[in-house]
Formats: sequence, C-alpha cells, structure tokens
Amino acid sequence: MAHSSSSPPVRMAALKRRIARLGLLCSGTLLERTKVCGKPACRCAADPAARHGPYYEWNRRLQGRLHHRIVSPAQARVITQAMNEYQTLLGLLADWEDASAQVILGAERLSPQTRRR
Ligand SMILES: [Zn+2]
Repeated sequence: MAHSSSSPPVRMAALKRRIARLGLLCSGTLLERTKVCGKPACRCAADPAARHGPYYEWNRRLQGRLHHRIVSPAQARVITQAMNEYQTLLGLLADWEDASAQVILGAERLSPQTRRR
C-alpha cells in the first residue's frame, strides 16, 4: 500500500493497481440457518443440535429490490471472500477520493490568493 506521505498521483497509481487485482465482488448479507423439517419422528423435532443444515441465504439489493437466494456451502465460502473484497474496494475508493480532493484543493492552493478581500 502506498504510504500516506506519497504524492496523490503516486497514491492513485498504487490504488489503481490494487483495484485491478481484485477478483469477485459481492455485496449484501449472508445468513447461516438451520431448519426443522416438521416430521414428528425426526431427531430435529426434539434436539436443536439435530436441526437440518446449515443452509446459507444470500440477501442482496439489485436495482433497489431485495433478492433472497439459497446458496451451497461452497458458494457461501466464495461469497464471503467476495464480500471481503468488496469491503477492500470501498476502502480503496475512499483513499482514491481523498487523493483526488488533495489534487483539487492542492491546485487551488497554488492559485493567487490576492483576489480575496
Ligand atoms: Zn428433521
């Protein structure tokens, strides 16, 4: 990661390289659930530890609408990793925004201040 004392253009170049290396990105939430099947003879009826599952439910917002989807344990692992990547991206975008503001405000600082009264 670029040190914060680097110039904004150097920081932005480093941010772009890190963003280019990101893989799958997911947002939303992933819930782990267990279920009772309802059969009186099944062990799950009496023993909470014998409930079925776990099942993974991925909730995410697409074009303003909430979508629910049951995913496999393998998919849940990939989604969890992709959610971490998404959080990394948000952090990198915040750094990029900060570097952009430094470029813009730094440029203003170089302009003559004499017109202010
Ligand atoms: Zn059951």
